[in-house]
Amino acid sequence: MRIPFSKSLAVAACLTVAGCLFAQKPKPEDTEVWQPVPPKVTPGDKCGAPPSDAIILFDGKNLDQWVSAKDDKSPAEWTVANGVLTVNKKAGNIETKEHFKDYQLHIEWKVPADITGSGQARGNSGVFLASTGPRDDGYELQVLDSYDNKTYVNGMAGSLYKQAIPLVNPSRKPGEWQTYDVVWTAPTFNDDGSLKTPAYATVFFNGVLVENHFELKGQTLYIGKPFYKAYTSAPIKLQAHGDPSQPISYRNIWVRKLD
Ligand code: MG
Repeated sequence: MRIPFSKSLAVAACLTVAGCLFAQKPKPEDTEVWQPVPPKVTPGDKCGAPPSDAIILFDGKNLDQWVSAKDDKSPAEWTVANGVLTVNKKAGNIETKEHFKDYQLHIEWKVPADITGSGQARGNSGVFLASTGPRDDGYELQVLDSYDNKTYVNGMAGSLYKQAIPLVNPSRKPGEWQTYDVVWTAPTFNDDGSLKTPAYATVFFNGVLVENHFELKGQTLYIGKPFYKAYTSAPIKLQAHGDPSQPISYRNIWVRKLD
């Protein structure tokens, strides 16, 4: 019988190395990884509380971590009272002083119990996961009363505006606090500004998965098809939407950098 050259080489190797068969048998420890050890992090003492490695963006006291999103980056002039941050529509959007790439974000929001209006004009705000300009530029996770309020579904609460419809609608009633927990993977760009890797967003809305590692097609635009605009790091921005309904509120905002 003719033995193939590669097999004959293996046979020869086994003959010269004692216990060859034993050496090739997989062991449990072959697939154990011991280094590097993940850093210890103390979790929050209750659900939604910041873990020890979080950057606190709003803890109910002040807007020290925020500025106006306008070009002058003047102090943020939204209202802080009773541990709660409330949108000041006249003051416009606000954004974090710090810029971010990839991160985990926790934010809580509440539509007033006596909210009026309908469709997009009922408690509209938004969390821009990366802001690329002073107004509504960037990547918006919609904030809106969607408990019993019909609108286009790619613009309801839990949507990535006009790109990703939420998988389900776990909205609570106006007057109740709601939570977003987000994992944001920032887009990356080549030196010439072209897209290298797209942005991804995973969103839990009141603890329920509504966006599952969704790949964005670009910035979330009010009009037109999405496109990417190169950036390296960006602030997180909150929207002061121009509709006439009562302003919504935020609390307990924290972020963990992942890059
Ligand atoms: Mg909005």
